[in-house]
Amino acid sequence: MLRSIFLKLSQSHRFARWVTSNATTRRMSHRFVAGETLDEALTAARGCNDAGMLVTLDCLGENVSTTADAQKARDTYLQIFDCIAQQKLKANVSCKLTQLGLDLSVEFCEGMVVSIAERAAAQDSFLRIDMESSVYTQRTVELVKRVRARMPSVGTVIQSYLYRSENDIQDLLSYGCRIRLCKGAYKEPPEVAFPRKADVDANFVKLVHLLLPSGFYHGIATHDPHMIAATIRCAAEKRVSKDDFEFQMLYGVRTDLQRRLVRDGYRVRIYVPYGREWFPYFMRRLAERPANLGFFVRHFLRS
Ligand SMILES: Cc1cc2nc3c(=O)[nH]c(=O)nc-3n(C[C@H](O)[C@H](O)[C@H](O)COP(=O)(O)OP(=O)(O)OC[C@H]3O[C@@H](n4cnc5c(N)ncnc54)[C@H](O)[C@@H]3O)c2cc1C
Repeated sequence: MLRSIFLKLSQSHRFARWVTSNATTRRMSHRFVAGETLDEALTAARGCNDAGMLVTLDCLGENVSTTADAQKARDTYLQIFDCIAQQKLKANVSCKLTQLGLDLSVEFCEGMVVSIAERAAAQDSFLRIDMESSVYTQRTVELVKRVRARMPSVGTVIQSYLYRSENDIQDLLSYGCRIRLCKGAYKEPPEVAFPRKADVDANFVKLVHLLLPSGFYHGIATHDPHMIAATIRCAAEKRVSKDDFEFQMLYGVRTDLQRRLVRDGYRVRIYVPYGREWFPYFMRRLAERPANLGFFVRHFLRS
């Protein structure tokens, strides 16, 4: 119920204007967002590297409505790759196709992705295409397959809440695609996604068993101790070494677990988002956990 309310509010422009102009909510966003500038994100990335963790940097933004905005986002990602190389950070990049013009034209968006993936390849790095709501899944999978057929420097994300995900994984693996597996963060109808958490979790474990022995390097993105334990069991069973996959977690979420996995010798990558367009991302993080509502209300009352 609360999840639905937060996810609905995440699409409201009026609420977005109010939240992003309010000093208290801007401060609160720092729990999940590294800052509004690239410099702040690079500092956070350095901190993660110093703690033994890898990073993926994301300049927040989605659903742009002009080609100029998409080109601006592309230029920002090229700059991020350059900064990563200059500062010798152990980091790659994640971005969303609707930030690169997917709503405007698939061909145009693909051109944006190709130029970023080329920069990633030139720097021996990697570009991850985040997965958005199911309205975009087919277009995202098709676009990633086309780009991946030319360049190994691109991969994508699969969400275990979607019924179609097993087929998508088989399809993407046949292209040698590296996949990040997550549960899924959007509000989806029961026609396309498992409504029950138990089914989303069971599918997550099933998909881990497809990914880990595939011979490609994948990211298992979750803060759920049960999913993490199942992944570790699967790796042991299939004799997949700790260096042949990574756990991925979000900046500001379960830092205790992040540190523990590093201590246990696992590769951990932190998703570090930054930028002024933090509102929908922030709302999805609040939606993920009812206790976050308490965090929201407490900070608001204290301010
Ligand atoms: C690196 C990374 C990249 C992602 N990329 C995408 C993507 O491209 N597309 C997409 O749809 N989704 C993405 N997600 C989000 C994902 O789909 C889930 O919504 C999110 O990770 C919560 O699921 P969970 O696996 O942690 O399990 P849950 O069962 O939701 O949570 C397990 C436990 O983790 C902790 N936790 C989880 N979320 C929060 C939070 N927001 N605040 C505080 N504690 C929390 C709580 O202790 C909770 O009990 C990504 C997640 C990660 C980690």
